[in-house]
Amino acid sequence: MIKFAVKLSIMAHTGNLLTSILKKKCPNCRKGDMFINKSVFPLRDLLKMPDHCPQCGQKMEIEIGFYYGTGYVSYGICVALSIAIFIAYYLILGISWRDNSIFYYLAVNITLIVLLQPWIIRYSRVLYLNMFVKYGQNRYIAEEFRNKQHHHTNS
Ligand SMILES: [Zn+2]
Repeated sequence: MIKFAVKLSIMAHTGNLLTSILKKKCPNCRKGDMFINKSVFPLRDLLKMPDHCPQCGQKMEIEIGFYYGTGYVSYGICVALSIAIFIAYYLILGISWRDNSIFYYLAVNITLIVLLQPWIIRYSRVLYLNMFVKYGQNRYIAEEFRNKQHHHTNS
């Protein structure tokens, strides 16, 4: 029974992790948004992030150039997507060596990857920050942040 409860709480925890990633929330508090615009449009504001999480004060760019490392993450997402598209294409339309279907798949795959680029870039940032900041890791920041804001409104 206890084991079951532990399992459930782990499931709930990973569930929250997944939804917080899908909703592009700050990994520290899972409440604040990581991006200023909810939508990826207009594209010129695609990567606009607040300096600090509006809810808890977690730094969004831990150090200068922090997000340069996201290249590997977006590469990983592209590979995973290509595999998923391959399987879907294979199951729905079929891929054979005897005709040009493999080239049609490649064309569809490249088009989709290009069109999905804005989301891929955003999610690679979300995943990347999640690798460095765990939930509640910087709990004390929230206190400090609130105090600072309080000071601002007082002075
Ligand atoms: Zn936060």
